[in-house]
Amino acid sequence: MKRAASGKALRPRRSEFLVFGAPLITEAEIREVEDTLRSGWLGTGPKTKRFESDFAAYTGARHAIALNSCTAGLHLALDAAGIGPGDEVITTPMTFCATANVITHVGATPVFADVDPRTMNLDPDAVAKAITPRTKALIPVHFAGRPCDMEALLDLAAKHRLIVIEDAAHATEARYHGLKVGSIGDMTAFSFYATKNVVTGEGGMLTTHSDHWAERIRIRSLHGLSKDAWKRYSSDGFQPYDTLYPGYKYNMMDLQASLGIHQLARVQENLARREAIWRRYDEAFEGRFILPAPAEPETVHARHLYTLLLEPETLGMGQLEFLEALRAENIGAGVHFVALHLHHYYRQRLGTKRGDFPNAEWISDRTVSLPLSPKLSDEDVEDVIAAVLRISER
Ligand SMILES: *Cc1c(COP(=O)(O)O)cnc(C)c1O
Repeated sequence: MKRAASGKALRPRRSEFLVFGAPLITEAEIREVEDTLRSGWLGTGPKTKRFESDFAAYTGARHAIALNSCTAGLHLALDAAGIGPGDEVITTPMTFCATANVITHVGATPVFADVDPRTMNLDPDAVAKAITPRTKALIPVHFAGRPCDMEALLDLAAKHRLIVIEDAAHATEARYHGLKVGSIGDMTAFSFYATKNVVTGEGGMLTTHSDHWAERIRIRSLHGLSKDAWKRYSSDGFQPYDTLYPGYKYNMMDLQASLGIHQLARVQENLARREAIWRRYDEAFEGRFILPAPAEPETVHARHLYTLLLEPETLGMGQLEFLEALRAENIGAGVHFVALHLHHYYRQRLGTKRGDFPNAEWISDRTVSLPLSPKLSDEDVEDVIAAVLRISER
């Protein structure tokens, strides 16, 4: 326990640990899961289909395919697009490892391009410089829920005939120039992992306007079986099926969809709550840290992560020390992200090193994500603020 100058032990701000990214689960989800358990149909079924049609309606995409993760969605998108050995795919180092890992899963080569330090999203000029004759696709990530500069990225894609697969793991609610994320690029993958804006425990959704890609992805998501094979044990009687492709086991279960249906129904309400917490953080931390930049005009920011950038020189402590001090105050926090080109595998595989992507490194060295869940009470939010201010004033 830390001691004040008087030698008296400082009590943590909270007696109970505040879990980072704890989801808000209501009675509606609990009742729906119970109903599913009693129904006898736990796997992919009617509730998954309902969640898909609700999600397609929400995003304005022609197709929404429910999966067991966003990672599965990104992998299937690359696989369905026929991307493989010899191909390059450009993405951001300011992301979770899954975004680049899937490029490796299909045998292609991940190529990083630096981010804009203000938006923390891919810098289109850096992308343009990274394009080679082998480049086949771009995977922009809408970091923290802020839509990427899609106009510039889509222009580049059109010019060089690249497929655009958006990683919208943070961006379920995001909009760009009047379009809902999920209805912009060729294919878009969403995450419903336990800490994300819409949660199903594990889960994801792939949206696309294209009938061609939708069919390839649907088949690949369930062993490569022919259409509607999920119905093979339904009340319609046994349905014959065929294996069209050596596919994957990436389908969503009705148990997961039971959560998703109600989470999606409350998506706007939850966003409004996170926006209110965001404004309170902005007000409290103004002038002490580098705060997230305001949302760009004609966009909706999905407010997934509130990231403070610490200035170690003025703060007198580094990122890990700050995180440890928050933990001692019983506040959970995160780092989004340690720049991916500095991770062991990518250093070994691509020979990347410190200095390669200075903007991503600058963020990576300073960023701390604070709790931003609709589950937070006003008191929780004030605890976070008081703890951060107390640490920064030491
Ligand atoms: C969480 C996350 C993923 C992976 O999502 P899963 O549903 O856990 O597979 C991919 N990309 C980003 C940017 C993420 O934050």
